[in-house]
Amino acid sequence: MGYTINTKRLILIIAVLAVALLQASSASPSSSELEAASSLGVVYADGRPPEDVPLYELEKGNEALFISTYDVARMFRATKFWSPGSRKLVLRIDGVRYLFTIDTRVVMVGDEPALMHIPVRYRDGQVMIPLEFISDILSSRLREGIELDWKRLLLTIGSPQYNVNDISFEDDESGSKAVITMTDELLYHVDSDTPGLLRIKIYGGKLNPLKFTINETHGLFNRVRAEQTESDSYLFFDVRRTVRRFKVTMEPVSPESGSLEENRVSSSNASSAVTSSSAEGEGQSESGSKGLRRLVIFLEKGTLPEIPEADFAGRKMVEITEGTGGLRNREIKRVVIDPGHGGIDKCKVSPSGIMEKDVNLAVAFMLADRLHSELGVDVVLTRKTDVLIPLEKRAEMANEAGADLFISIHCNGWFHPEAGGFETFFLAPPRTKDEERLARDENASIKYENPLMKGNDLDEVDFILWDMVQNEYINESSDFAELVQRELSARLEIRNRGVKQAGLKVLKGLKMPAVLVEMAFLSNPEEEKLLMNDNFRENVVEGIVEAIRKFQNRYAASR
Ligand SMILES: [Zn+2]
Repeated sequence: MGYTINTKRLILIIAVLAVALLQASSASPSSSELEAASSLGVVYADGRPPEDVPLYELEKGNEALFISTYDVARMFRATKFWSPGSRKLVLRIDGVRYLFTIDTRVVMVGDEPALMHIPVRYRDGQVMIPLEFISDILSSRLREGIELDWKRLLLTIGSPQYNVNDISFEDDESGSKAVITMTDELLYHVDSDTPGLLRIKIYGGKLNPLKFTINETHGLFNRVRAEQTESDSYLFFDVRRTVRRFKVTMEPVSPESGSLEENRVSSSNASSAVTSSSAEGEGQSESGSKGLRRLVIFLEKGTLPEIPEADFAGRKMVEITEGTGGLRNREIKRVVIDPGHGGIDKCKVSPSGIMEKDVNLAVAFMLADRLHSELGVDVVLTRKTDVLIPLEKRAEMANEAGADLFISIHCNGWFHPEAGGFETFFLAPPRTKDEERLARDENASIKYENPLMKGNDLDEVDFILWDMVQNEYINESSDFAELVQRELSARLEIRNRGVKQAGLKVLKGLKMPAVLVEMAFLSNPEEEKLLMNDNFRENVVEGIVEAIRKFQNRYAASR
């Protein structure tokens, strides 16, 4: 009996092995035949996630790239019909019929023939068409625009409204440049705190991250990486360790001059600074064509040898500054704390009846105490009781006090109870719907001051006539806003909504760096509890105190 079982087992094992071998032998030739030669990065404007689509080289000695019609059909939402008998395939895209015949170079577009350089092929059960079909035949017949970048093998389907468009590199004896072209005047923030890394945030930027992902070395630039959030773009430059000094400038692109050197450099930045070309005066912004700008990141060729990891870890790059432009000698001696709203202006009221104006005032008192005792600075409060102080009056008070810093304290709110987190604003024209919404809410105080004013007038006042006075302080304001947000994020366990720019009326007309902090959402039941919690309030206050300490040190160190 034992004998027969063993035989059965043996037969079973042999059978399993045989099946496995058969599968392996049938799989290997086709998989080697259809190995992708490279891939096409595809970015969709309609919100579909980007993807990598395999490309094939099907002919020996010919580097022509083919793409499977399965992928083409999915990418362009086409209907596909395959007729094996006649070896013909039909794709219907945007209402146009494309008829392919295997081993033929002719594509019938409707009733019109179009000719490709290479014939359509059939491999491993798939109809393969040359990539040139997309760029040469399909692109001109689509309703939505497409762009095929052959060098980077990157296809963009649809036209997303990018305003940060391209990157190129230049290299000479003095150093290396990365040149980023933009179709808009955008503010940016440079962070060189991490050795070997330059991080540039572009407020309100929209870019295609695949286009800004560069893995080859260009001079002193090792690699470039990009991220796109719902409101801002981030560029990360991994640079050579020999680089000691860098410079970031925004310059207009003048149509008459082709080279960078002929353009005027429109700004000189402080380290970790933000600038906008509009901040540099009228003449400069008019010299550019239709808001076209170049953001130039220059890395100076250093004579420093490569240094060991341990030494490198503490070495930051320094920004090359020219003259005194951009960098002010700033000592923080007096801070104005502005508890938002007050009196009949309650602003946000939580479902359980907690009022924003009260939370703002309580936190402002705590902040005033700690600023005075820990940093020894003078503190001026724009209100100490539950009264309505007009927004202009608050700015006036701060200017008259000769304050060095202005911090407005607020709570956020939204229709959906799930919305939450903390965010910090500095004054600049709003870029996103969310920023406009916030500006409208926080500016609404004005309607209590002047009941005859209509809602629409507010928009006009706040979004068009934003004050040029604050422009001077954009660099420092956004620098400070980034510090506040970073310190808060180290202490608060709610969502980090980031630094934003907004046309906030309370920040207008101020002759000092100014930010507005939205601590949390009163409309969110969890965060409402936090806003009433002393621990949470302490953490907010500590974060702001720490940010002021760092801000002070940064500017003191640069003198
Ligand atoms: Zn508020």
